[in-house]
Amino acid sequence: MLSGSFEELKQGLKKLPGIGEKTATRLAMYLIRMERKDAETIGEAIIKAVNSYSNCPVCNILTDTEPCVFCQDTQREQQILCVVEDTQDAYLIEDTHEFKGRYFILGNLLSPMDGIGLDEINYPLLQDFLAANPVEELILAISPSVEGESTINFLVNQLADNVKTITRLSTGLPFGGDMEYATSRTLTTAFKRRYSAYK
Ligand SMILES: [Zn+2]
Repeated sequence: MLSGSFEELKQGLKKLPGIGEKTATRLAMYLIRMERKDAETIGEAIIKAVNSYSNCPVCNILTDTEPCVFCQDTQREQQILCVVEDTQDAYLIEDTHEFKGRYFILGNLLSPMDGIGLDEINYPLLQDFLAANPVEELILAISPSVEGESTINFLVNQLADNVKTITRLSTGLPFGGDMEYATSRTLTTAFKRRYSAYK
């Protein structure tokens, strides 16, 4: 009979994306059977990483420095801001070497039905950011899902008077597709062919 601690480990693993009951059981079994030292190293690495990362108070990116490396870097173009859903999206864009400006991480996409409103997309922080760092261009690098589209519409309506140019990525990205599935090349093209987000 497997003990409560095994069950606890399994339930913990099930919280990870793409891990269902079967995979969680297999992974938990693997962990308790592997070299104890290796399993402990994984456990310690998780604790260390989650304790050293937090959200940048300026741009909301997950960072282990405060402020983050992007907000510290005065060499980056200050006139252009790329708004993305999460930290991973910013690093995907960074990998294309197509963008040298700054980032802002929403953290969520608008979905009032699910209780995800302006605070949850960190809109107040974005307003603070733009008040302190006025920009010429705002790039909305947001997946064109239903929530993505309503977030884009909201931001365009709210910020049109304050920002000269608001653009969005070209639809090289599959409709409703997550940015993380876009290849670096698709993303580069989507960036180069960005177009005005005004209706
Ligand atoms: Zn930052």
